[in-house]
Amino acid sequence: MAEKELKLLNYGVQTALTSLSRLTYDYSVWTSTYDYSVWTSTYDFMHDLNEEYIDENMVPDTFNSLKVDGIFYLNENFEPILTKGLHHLSDVELTFSFYDFKKYPLNSKMLPTPISGEGAPHKEGFINTQYGPALFSAFQIRDSNKFGGNRGFLIFIQLVEEPFLDLLNQSTLTKISIDNDIVGKNLSGLPLWNEKVKIEDVKPYRHILFQDMNGLPVTVLKIKHSKGDLPPLINEHSLIFISILSLFIYLFYHLITHTIIKPVKKLALSIKLIDGELGFKLLDDKFSVKELMIVSNNVNQLINTVQQQNDLLRKQATTDQLTSLINRHGLLAVLEIHKDLCIRQGITFAVVMCDIDHFKQYNDHFGHLEGDQALVDVAQVLKLQCKRANDYCARYGGEEFTLLFSDMSENDLQEKLLRIGDAMKTLNIAHPKSQTAPHMTFSCGATIIKATDVVDHSLPISDIFKCADQALYEAKSTGRNNFVIKEFVTLASDEQR
Ligand code: GH3
Ligand code: MG
Ligand code: MG
Repeated sequence: MAEKELKLLNYGVQTALTSLSRLTYDYSVWTSTYDYSVWTSTYDFMHDLNEEYIDENMVPDTFNSLKVDGIFYLNENFEPILTKGLHHLSDVELTFSFYDFKKYPLNSKMLPTPISGEGAPHKEGFINTQYGPALFSAFQIRDSNKFGGNRGFLIFIQLVEEPFLDLLNQSTLTKISIDNDIVGKNLSGLPLWNEKVKIEDVKPYRHILFQDMNGLPVTVLKIKHSKGDLPPLINEHSLIFISILSLFIYLFYHLITHTIIKPVKKLALSIKLIDGELGFKLLDDKFSVKELMIVSNNVNQLINTVQQQNDLLRKQATTDQLTSLINRHGLLAVLEIHKDLCIRQGITFAVVMCDIDHFKQYNDHFGHLEGDQALVDVAQVLKLQCKRANDYCARYGGEEFTLLFSDMSENDLQEKLLRIGDAMKTLNIAHPKSQTAPHMTFSCGATIIKATDVVDHSLPISDIFKCADQALYEAKSTGRNNFVIKEFVTLASDEQR
């Protein structure tokens, strides 16, 4: 597309030159077609220098109709006979100096040089004048016809102005203008108007250089290419735009990373850690983003609720519902702790199994609900006997209870069990069906575990229960409402013996 536009520009320039040359030709060359031609009057003028010719031809109308701004007649010695300059658009007189060939010898190249016997080929092209760049056309005037003697020369001048540019615009259908910006700049490398331009790059506009017959710059025209060619994808503007956009994206990414992504990751990690921890920790709720603060607060509320429910479940899992004592599950945990204390620190502890005597008969006699109440009352009595921080009272199951006393000698234990028996007597739950006493009683089997019972850091809980059970069995079989304290024996120590 751009290449075609440049070709059309050349065509337009050539057309302008040709039309100027045609006019000059009409005035300077004899033609046999008509009896009378413009040449005849020109020739007469050259011969006689008659004023009439000047009055008739060198008038504004001639310049306007021919669209020329200067007409110059020279004799065979290149001396001016008639020089007339008139700006054909404004009728303002112009006084050209370019034809002073003594002063500007380079300009004489615009004159057709006679070749002996053959005449002189006409010249056309561009020239600098003091009124700006101009097109010129120069012909030889001969005596009679094309083969006559040399009479002189005729030069027509047309300034490079709107009519010329309009013609170019019409032929190219694009915008052609004189580029004044380029004046004074290095013009080397610019394509010449009449040279074939090979288009290799896409440009919105292009400069074309016009030179005179000596190769000196006359003017530079700027052709604005039509939009048929796509603008290049990457040019300086798009690079600036991409750079600014990239910077914005980079800053935006960092802003988002700093204010959202990092805090969200931190929050997610904190929530993940909570899952792995035994005790819940509340999340940090100081975030720059309000929504994250809300999430953190809501998670903290959830943590609180879960924690409360966990505590409740843990309590329920280790508490006997009827008596509110710790249940067998809770007892086992407590036993583990005391077992460790014994193994590591040698702290003794006593385990007592208490079993209500003839409780089946009590139930049968008073009913299950009364039986339950009796269990609650007995539990209360036993609980009251576990006064120290490390004393425990548990419901082992049914009408059986387990007591645990830390760091207790056998004598102290005996006293404690006697006191418990007394407390039961004081509680005085009537048990008419008991074959042992008129009130409810129980039998106890106990054992004390000492540091010496630890074998190879081992102290099986099952052995503890087995020993206490045997003692209880003995207490039952020896009349009930009493207690037996049995020395602790572990299977491990049995094996050792
Ligand atoms: P012994 O003196 O040999 O221990 O006789 P006992 O009747 O106490 O023992 P046995 O094992 O024969 O009966 C225990 C009874 O305890 C049977 C059961 O009905 C009763 N019992 C167990 N758990 C509960 C309970 O939660 N509530 C009530 N009311 N009774 C229970
Ligand atoms: Mg029992
Ligand atoms: Mg019983």
